[in-house]
Amino acid sequence: MIKQDKKNIFIETYGCQMNEYDTELVRAILRKAEYRFVEDELSADVVMLNTCAIREHAHRKVYGRVHEIKHKRQGTPVKIGILGCMATNLRTELLENKNLDIDFIAGPDSYKRLPALIQESYQTGKKNFDVTLSEFETYSDVYPMRKEGVNAWLAVMRGCNNFCTFCVVPYTRGRERSRSVSNVVDEVKHLADDGFKQVTLLGQNVNSYKEGGHDFASLLEAVSKVNGIERIRFTSPHPKDFPDQLLNVVAQNPKVCKQIHLPLQSGNDRILELMNRTYTQDEFLKLVDKTRKLIPNIALSTDIIVGFSTETDKEFDDTIKVMKQVRFDSAFMFKYSERKQTIASRKHEDDVPEAIKTERIVRLNELQKQIALERNEAHIGETHSVLIEQEETNKSKDHYLARCDNNKIIIVPKGPYYKGEIHQATITKASPHGLKGNVLK
Ligand code: SF4
Repeated sequence: MIKQDKKNIFIETYGCQMNEYDTELVRAILRKAEYRFVEDELSADVVMLNTCAIREHAHRKVYGRVHEIKHKRQGTPVKIGILGCMATNLRTELLENKNLDIDFIAGPDSYKRLPALIQESYQTGKKNFDVTLSEFETYSDVYPMRKEGVNAWLAVMRGCNNFCTFCVVPYTRGRERSRSVSNVVDEVKHLADDGFKQVTLLGQNVNSYKEGGHDFASLLEAVSKVNGIERIRFTSPHPKDFPDQLLNVVAQNPKVCKQIHLPLQSGNDRILELMNRTYTQDEFLKLVDKTRKLIPNIALSTDIIVGFSTETDKEFDDTIKVMKQVRFDSAFMFKYSERKQTIASRKHEDDVPEAIKTERIVRLNELQKQIALERNEAHIGETHSVLIEQEETNKSKDHYLARCDNNKIIIVPKGPYYKGEIHQATITKASPHGLKGNVLK
């Protein structure tokens, strides 16, 4: 029997906020099993890579990292585990690849099995795995091991039923299931007791939350009643799930931040249909209009995929048109990259040449950079309430990185105020990526 308390664990996380949150769950599960954590792979007995399957680039990075760790650790034994979406998406490839020296694999719903998987690996020396998907919320009884901080991530639902044709999530994370309101509120109270000021509610399709007669709007209301939590954010929503009731809560509840992520993906109706996004360009634009009428100070962000199967120049121009019309505050833009298991990989050939994808994304990036700059410059001279999040690490130790209610980063000089506090700040400078300002004393 291996003594678990002798094992040192190092975990590295790739991909989205849900993965960051899952790593916190994994840490809590392993701590309970008396494992210890270290900050680098050189002193670890077990290295886990919590992976993402959204893009080819992410896969290559993980393969490269496994080889790098093995190379660095030549001569000293180390177990390597692959966790996360890639574990489910590429299980067979990972298990059968003779050039990839890994010891165990655990999918997103199997983390409670990790202590057993690690132990089995030491006992048998064989590769083992568990990528079973659950129909139920798996982790509602686990309180994540979070780093001390100001913002806490909190998953309120998991999985997705939408089957956008380009996306692996329904296959790697299974069907939608939500935690109960009381369970979420209990955790938020715990967070407030631990000093967190902001909570970001997470879900693959967070606004489709549904549990025991409650929808996402009523969950937001319930969470906002917790004393000590000053700000509530949520990500990532789907444009199809924005009833008026939800928009009204964002508009009227002072704790719910005036920021919505609205993933457009494409501005062309034929491409949206091929993607199975379930809305048209016109419906999306009407939602934006309605949102801005109800919440005039709302900041909107989006996701765009360029070069999806068969997308023509003219169809891409529709995306440009919508970007110009909506003028998002920020955007995450990606070239389409086909993923195994998806509907698109079976039905829609990835036939837009790489050079054209690159040309389109460069055009889109330039446009969005200009729009973001103009939207940020429009804030100069305004006063916003800002939450001090952390020391600004990039440039000088004399500044804090803070965040406006609308999610924009603002750099402010240090003063007689501290992390976790909310202050008023005037905005003095703007760039496409953020703001600078001064805290009012
Ligand atoms: S809504 Fe679409 S893109 Fe988002 S997780 Fe579900 S399938 Fe993927």
